[in-house]
Amino acid sequence: MNETLAVRVAGLRRVFGDVVAVDSVDLDVRPGEMLTVLGPSGCGKTTVLRLIAGLDSPDAGTIEIGGRRVSGGGASVPPERRRVGMVFQDVALFPHLSVHDNIGYGLRGDPDREVRVRELLELIDMPDVGRRMPHQLSGGMQQRVAVARALAPRPDVVLLDEPFSSLDAALRTQLRGDVREILRAAGTAAVFVTHDQDEALTLGDRMAVMVRGRVEQVDAPEVVYGEPATPFVATFVGTANLVHGDARDGVAATRFGSVRVVGRRPADGTRGLVVLRPEELDVLEAPDGPADASAWRVLRRRFTGTEILYEVAASDGARLWVEAGHAVRRLRVGDAVHLRLRDVETVMFPPSRHVDGADDQGVAEPIQTTTSVPF
Ligand code: ATP
Repeated sequence: MNETLAVRVAGLRRVFGDVVAVDSVDLDVRPGEMLTVLGPSGCGKTTVLRLIAGLDSPDAGTIEIGGRRVSGGGASVPPERRRVGMVFQDVALFPHLSVHDNIGYGLRGDPDREVRVRELLELIDMPDVGRRMPHQLSGGMQQRVAVARALAPRPDVVLLDEPFSSLDAALRTQLRGDVREILRAAGTAAVFVTHDQDEALTLGDRMAVMVRGRVEQVDAPEVVYGEPATPFVATFVGTANLVHGDARDGVAATRFGSVRVVGRRPADGTRGLVVLRPEELDVLEAPDGPADASAWRVLRRRFTGTEILYEVAASDGARLWVEAGHAVRRLRVGDAVHLRLRDVETVMFPPSRHVDGADDQGVAEPIQTTTSVPF
């Protein structure tokens, strides 16, 4: 089926001096879909959004919105005629206008303005606050009004740039759900830029992972997590252990046993890096007593809010992150454990794609998710 895409970006490039902020970026946003764009600070997320919005011009590439060329190949449609709505971090509500007038701002002269504003106040579940001024609203309410204002002229796509970054964690989670619902109810496509992996995973119908100006992978969040395209994606989206494996017949032999390799099948005899998620290894308590050469020792623990991850080390120095199930009592630093591989299907990266930190012990340095990504 040849449906009109909400946004189509092809070969996009933007250079600032000697910084290539956006490099060969291709992205499609389908009608009604929420595409999240995840990447570390400085990877080019905001620049992509500004280029789509028309707030900046690309050095190369084309942009289509709702099937209409707005940039590249001789086209240069100004922002106000691109049919995009924007909810940017730094675009606040107009402080001197009521909620009603903020939402209706883009509809001046439209005979249906009153009906539309009322409809949007209902949509954001704030039917009785039209007369209030922005300073009389909570931070969360202000963001919902900002989304309503962006939706008012029925844009082809709403662009959101870290809209919740100034809010506290509980409110962020609440608003994520609210905004998702609002956009879904409106049936409007959206591009949502964030450096928060939870936000990208939970909000996106699909997510794009960017690093150094390039898009490394675009897919459904569960596919990005389960079949990351590159070592960077594996370690940036969730916690990943990269473990050496020797491929044969679509199976990789690791120090823990064999895993089935999905995705690109490595040639027989290849030694590469296999992704093992913390939950793919069972943790079994080892008896106390004289050092057991095959045991792993707990080095430290990390509570993510929903689970406890343990970093464990083998006697040969290899380290990795594991998740202990409920059957295991809370472990302390220094406790001995055995690890047992579950039935795992995972991806394998060829040896040339080693990430920084891969050591000679058969296990790569564990890499944290959003804070300390190797470049
Ligand atoms: P953050 O999450 O920190 O906002 P980002 O992924 O959105 O980062 P961008 O703001 O798009 O990244 O910036 C990408 C790169 O381009 C950075 O190295 C940044 O310093 C550079 N850059 C962006 N805008 C400009 C500009 N107007 N002039 C010069 N360099 C710029």
